[in-house]
Amino acid sequence: MAELQRPTLCCCRKVLTVPSKSCEGGRALGQCRLVDIASASNFHSFKLRHFHLDLHLNFALKRMTGWQVLELVPIQPGVQTLVLDTHPSLHIHSIDCKVPGAAGSPDIFLSLTYRVDPFTDYGSSLNISLPATVIRPHRALQITIRYTTTDGPAIWWLDAELTCGQTRPLVFTQGHSVCNRSFFPCFDTPAVKSTYSAAVRVPEGVTVLMSASRSAYSKSDRVFQFSMEFPVPAYLVALVAGDLQHADIGPRSRVWAEPCILPCAVSKLGGSVERWLAVAEGLFGPYVWGRYDIVFLPPSFPIVAMENPCLTFIISSILESREFLLIDVIHEIAHGWFGNAVTNATWEEMWLSEGLATYAQRRITTEAYGEAFTCLETVFRLDALHRQMRLLGDNSPVSKLQAKFEPGVNPSSLMNLFTYEKGFCFVSYLSQLCGDIKRFDSFLRAYIEKFKFSSVVAQDLLDFFLGFFPELKESCVSQREGLEFERWLNECGPPLFEPDLSAGEVLTGPVQRLCDLWGSPDTPEAPDTAAIATFDLSSWSTFQTVLFLDRLLDRSPLPHEVMSQLSQCYSTLLDGMNAEVRIRWLQIVVRNSFYPDLPCVRSFLLKHTSRMYTVPLYEDLCGGVMKCFAVEVFYQTQARLHPNLRRTLQQILFQTSGGATSASSTALPALPCTAAPVLPTDGPPPVLAPPILAPPTTSPPPAPTDPPPNGTIALRDVNVSA
Ligand SMILES: [Zn+2]
Repeated sequence: MAELQRPTLCCCRKVLTVPSKSCEGGRALGQCRLVDIASASNFHSFKLRHFHLDLHLNFALKRMTGWQVLELVPIQPGVQTLVLDTHPSLHIHSIDCKVPGAAGSPDIFLSLTYRVDPFTDYGSSLNISLPATVIRPHRALQITIRYTTTDGPAIWWLDAELTCGQTRPLVFTQGHSVCNRSFFPCFDTPAVKSTYSAAVRVPEGVTVLMSASRSAYSKSDRVFQFSMEFPVPAYLVALVAGDLQHADIGPRSRVWAEPCILPCAVSKLGGSVERWLAVAEGLFGPYVWGRYDIVFLPPSFPIVAMENPCLTFIISSILESREFLLIDVIHEIAHGWFGNAVTNATWEEMWLSEGLATYAQRRITTEAYGEAFTCLETVFRLDALHRQMRLLGDNSPVSKLQAKFEPGVNPSSLMNLFTYEKGFCFVSYLSQLCGDIKRFDSFLRAYIEKFKFSSVVAQDLLDFFLGFFPELKESCVSQREGLEFERWLNECGPPLFEPDLSAGEVLTGPVQRLCDLWGSPDTPEAPDTAAIATFDLSSWSTFQTVLFLDRLLDRSPLPHEVMSQLSQCYSTLLDGMNAEVRIRWLQIVVRNSFYPDLPCVRSFLLKHTSRMYTVPLYEDLCGGVMKCFAVEVFYQTQARLHPNLRRTLQQILFQTSGGATSASSTALPALPCTAAPVLPTDGPPPVLAPPILAPPTTSPPPAPTDPPPNGTIALRDVNVSA
């Protein structure tokens, strides 16, 4: 569309230094440079060699105070300003500069002036004036920024009551996509990578972990020291501090968790992680990060998992769903190659990380657990993709692999199933083009070897692909159009190709047959209960059960008779299963307004306090006729919810219209509430925790007399990891 064209952008998503001359399909280094519309910084003007954080964590005040040292080299002549990304929740005290003296002369120390300007609703720009007299291209300088940061989008302070053990407070950070500018001033773009180090001072009894390759602890000073010796983008710098203990589960892996959940975590993962790493190394080459550790976080963690290098962050709620835990950890392991070693250079091409990681995850599960299991999991996710497609329509711009942001769009709003699953289908298409899955593995190995520790655009991947398979390059009329790369990248709508999943038939077949027995809107006759009784759900895998429930959910509302029979057959059985199964069954209960099973909804919401297990149910409750019930349960549980989640649920419960978590000022339509993992960047950052609301002295607000149709607001989260 015309309004989405940006004539200054080259076909390879880099801005042209020579306007009107494109790369003509090739990456012409030096001719074009990358634009990251989500960053206010002037990262092109500097080489960031390294940065160091020195922080003191104050749990009582929920503050991090300290300083950051950036080691920079100006690489352009005439640079007079250093512009960094920052956030209104980050308060700067002072900025100094040290320039090493030339040829024996003493170092120069200067205090710098600075100004903070508005940028978007997810950040500000920090403009630091550099002294023209001492700044020279290629002459290194050190900038020291003293600052305090509180509870911006990246930083999640949990009171003791919100932790699993409920004995000590905990804090974690979550940088993806553009949150870390509230953690430390930075070039907050995935295009820039650097090494970093940190010293973190905490009260006694608190353990600090970071996404770093080396760590040390000085007990006398209560200082944790970290060093990340491999270059990473700002969003992959992560910290967690609390009552954390560890157990080794392999030669290079340990599990970290609060003491009360550590034994469970170890029992679920012991022995498996090293096996998965070994399979991944066999496919994609050496694991470059040294350690692969995992830290389990309390239910307040806002997404399922995050691929922080050396230290995956994962929500403890997933522990009860063994197959989802397995998939999520393998997905994060896959990011060790795809996303972390080789990173998408802008957030507009997030599929380069997520699509490739999803493909790699499925190559690992195919090797470790067989094709049938992998196909079942893929069918389940592609079902979800098509569900999103039905809700958004074929022309939704979020269905493009190469999204185009308008200024102000929060990249987190682009985190959706297309990024993962349409990206996966494109990678599968490339694999099919080359004709041999093992040859494609070799290509991916070579791709990692060539681009590791750098950031790429799609053109880099595709050029390398055509270079690796020259026969494909020759066989098509033009590099892009002949192989339909352009359509894949820039067209809305469903994937142009989906892989053959017939190897999963042995597992998906029974699911579909049972669904058919329960009837469809076209077959109004009563279900054949005798035939239905021959299916034993208790012997099914979790993915079979959730696929069955998702397909029933797609058909809801069901005839009341059918719903009654479903409840009779399955309610007790499903209520004893894991949370991924239960939430789907309870959504069926809610969307069908089936009151006899409402106590199960209440007990589920009383138990689960994570975003992924509450938001979808509350949305369904409020989208139907059960809003009073939802309000009542909310009043019972709100004190145990993280303030950010409490705020989201208050919006769902008490807003009369509109999505609860949609990003503001987006050119792309924000997805309905839970289509994407709901990141803390949605909306302005919290300044004060929302108050715990007193229940009304009279009855709760009446249910809307004309509830919106379910489909408009109830797009389910399908357990998308970051
Ligand atoms: Zn991912």
